[in-house]
Amino acid sequence: MSEKDYYETLGIPKNASADDIKKAYRELAKKYHPDVNKDPGAEEKFKEVSEAYAVLSDPQKREVYDQYGKAGVDGRYSREDIFNEDIFKDIFNGFGGFEDIFDIFFGGGRRRRTPERRFVPRDISTSVTLELGEAFNGAEKKIEIGRKILCERCDGTGAESPGDVKTCPQCHGAGRVRVTQSSLFGRFSTVTTCSRCSGTGRVIEKPCPSCRGRGYMEEKKSIVINIPKGVDEGTLLRVPGEGEFGGDLYINVHLKEHPALKRSGSDLIAEVEISFPEAALGTQIEIESMDGKTSVEVPPGTQSGETLRVKGRGMPSLDTRKRGDLVVKINVRTPTKLTREERELLEKLLELEGDRGSKLFGRIFR
Ligand SMILES: [Zn+2]
Ligand SMILES: [Zn+2]
Repeated sequence: MSEKDYYETLGIPKNASADDIKKAYRELAKKYHPDVNKDPGAEEKFKEVSEAYAVLSDPQKREVYDQYGKAGVDGRYSREDIFNEDIFKDIFNGFGGFEDIFDIFFGGGRRRRTPERRFVPRDISTSVTLELGEAFNGAEKKIEIGRKILCERCDGTGAESPGDVKTCPQCHGAGRVRVTQSSLFGRFSTVTTCSRCSGTGRVIEKPCPSCRGRGYMEEKKSIVINIPKGVDEGTLLRVPGEGEFGGDLYINVHLKEHPALKRSGSDLIAEVEISFPEAALGTQIEIESMDGKTSVEVPPGTQSGETLRVKGRGMPSLDTRKRGDLVVKINVRTPTKLTREERELLEKLLELEGDRGSKLFGRIFR
């Protein structure tokens, strides 16, 4: 509002006491109160001195002001915080109701601001379940979302026409009313939210037929989203502006299990069974990975449970774009049903092992 120094505005020195501040403001408020002073600039002047008083009469706000100036105060306090009704109450006792004062501070702006404030941007979230291949290649997915949007017909006012939005007759647009009650201890009054307008300061004469006065509509919409390569279980994708009233949409990614491949970060894990002779002699195996077949060399003497790594054949990474590895876990199969010939061969093998003396040690130390 005012760019002038608050102390100057009130005509007081920087070291003015709380009483000095109050006294100075009371004089100026009487002089410029719009009920008394009908000069065109009076209301503006009244707002200026009230703002200066509102800040300087509160020790905390005054300290912030002394140190950081007006910008510091505005950064820390909202207008509602600054124009705290308590500090004006005793000043205006018997001199215009507080509601009028409140109305002057916030003016029509408070009323106009209300419809938008009801529909602040809000983020919404949904989830999408993907095949591993979609996470590998990236994908375009169509998803359905439900959200509230501003009613186009009434532009969120909830009224059939702008003329149907009227200042609330009960609170005169302040959104608050003073209720005076009698009790054993005498009469006292409190300020409460206006019940007629629920504090919005306005009433609607003819509601908008599209939204039935709510100002918003429920919408079901399908949108196509681009899934980037490398998303993982739990990845959160943000689609700007697709939330409610301009908020964002967040999509939580889930991955379906793949029949043969497990994912671990950007690595893919494949489990493969080979026979004992293959493990002993070494072999070549083919793995069906995400981007086709990969040939893997199993070296002679591979143990069950050992892993082999094929560099760069895993999943793409969402951040680095570098691919992880394909990790092949080898399981050595022990045969359960043997043909006569196989049995004879294995028995022969056992005999040979015994001759080498490895059988005894093998049993003990393995
Ligand atoms: Zn009202
Ligand atoms: Zn409407």
